[in-house]
Amino acid sequence: MKLLMVASEAAPFAKTGGLADVVGSLPLALHALGHDVRLVMPWYRAVRGVTGNLRLSRRKLSIPIGGNVYQVGYRTGELKGVPVYFIDVPEFYDRPELYGEHGQDYPDNADRFGLLSLAALELVRQLKFVPDVIHAHDWQAGLIPVYLHQQRSHDSFFARTGCLFTIHNLGYQGMFPLETGRALGIEESLLNSDGLEYHGQISLLKGGIRFADQVNTVSPTYCQEIQTPECGIGLDGLLRSRADRLHGLLNGLDGKLWSPANDQSLMRTYTPESLTGKPACKKALQKELGLQLSSKTPIFAMVTRLDSQKGIDLLLESWDKIMTRNLQLVILGTGNPDFEHRLAEAAGFYPDQASVQLRYDDALSRRIYAGSDLFLMPSRYEPCGLGQLIALRYGSVPLVHATGGLVDTIVDPRESADQANGFLFHEYRHKSLLDCIDRSLTAYAEPKGWQKLVRQGMTQDFSWPHAAEKYVELYRLCTKELQ
Ligand code: ADP
Repeated sequence: MKLLMVASEAAPFAKTGGLADVVGSLPLALHALGHDVRLVMPWYRAVRGVTGNLRLSRRKLSIPIGGNVYQVGYRTGELKGVPVYFIDVPEFYDRPELYGEHGQDYPDNADRFGLLSLAALELVRQLKFVPDVIHAHDWQAGLIPVYLHQQRSHDSFFARTGCLFTIHNLGYQGMFPLETGRALGIEESLLNSDGLEYHGQISLLKGGIRFADQVNTVSPTYCQEIQTPECGIGLDGLLRSRADRLHGLLNGLDGKLWSPANDQSLMRTYTPESLTGKPACKKALQKELGLQLSSKTPIFAMVTRLDSQKGIDLLLESWDKIMTRNLQLVILGTGNPDFEHRLAEAAGFYPDQASVQLRYDDALSRRIYAGSDLFLMPSRYEPCGLGQLIALRYGSVPLVHATGGLVDTIVDPRESADQANGFLFHEYRHKSLLDCIDRSLTAYAEPKGWQKLVRQGMTQDFSWPHAAEKYVELYRLCTKELQ
């Protein structure tokens, strides 16, 4: 099939979270299955640091937004055989961050990402690449299905192009004033509650859900949760009305990119068969972060966006109690300035026992996955979660709140002693979290059982080939009605 992916981030070019991991690896798995897949994303300032300078296209794409017509160039790169087109609009993308700074979104995000969708469609026309399916990710590409819906009616180029929209996180809805919709060329007839309108504004996420041929989210449990009033954030009705086109597909993980057997960032590599390198990674991490050197004290870790979604409030609430246990805590994250401040302050009281690193650092994240014993994800909600999948690969046992994709990937010893790979707590309350930490400490104290738990997680297969085949099935569904 001919496939076009449109997304706002993809590893290794630009990443703020799991979306980038998915968009950076699913196309490779599809390519390996023999499909002609291409990717469109912005030429952010960060990308140049990864790719070096790529030649700017001579031909320009004319993109009308508001009163302006932007003459947009693009740069062509490659990700292991997959062509990647970077849309280059310096006034929109040549910035320090992807979406905002100091806890504030960039005020022109609607234009920045509306342009991305328009440019992607204009680009494939210019390249005469007629996709069988365009796969759009999250609100930043939510206008792709809307524009396709508008253009299909009067333009034969996209007449047979289907559209899959993936919700990586329903919590980010891409809300903007109604006026913005008009400036972005959305037809008046779609600016109502049956279209993109949402609480008096427009939601680009809603547009994606409403107008895509098929919609999916990134785990079966989250797919069910978002169809309930408790978790649907006002979109549950629309999601239920599209239930026959809504699917829950668990993300894969690129086992080559995330492997303790050949990770260059680690002090020592290791495998499930030979774990001897892991204690060396732990010692090196304790040294690096100024923690007490102790092989017997378990290190709990988090590598995360600092957002209320991730259970940071629950962690802060439980902090002093957690510190009474014989454990160390390592947190790597950035995000909400209030959380950053409170975490740094809380860690300051326990310098030998806790370390909070407030930055984005891929290499350190790898040393943390490898050096830690347990990986904490007390998420309030979690669409899929990649952190726990990476932790499993690196032999850091996940301790997670029983929600969304965490339920679909983590098995507690209480559910099955044979298949256990981590610990689950069920109530989003500090008592439930602490009880679970205590259970995990009891298990950690028994080295034989612990090694079994570690190995069980390390040898599980969450790799992409299987997940990619499921995506191909969805692509076929997208095109079915257009034949
Ligand atoms: P989300 O997509 O909601 O942010 P996921 O668990 O799906 O959460 O994915 C998070 C990804 O981002 C993982 O690859 C994790 O290692 C990475 N990550 C998050 N914060 C940081 C950070 N501060 N430094 C390095 N990597 C990070």
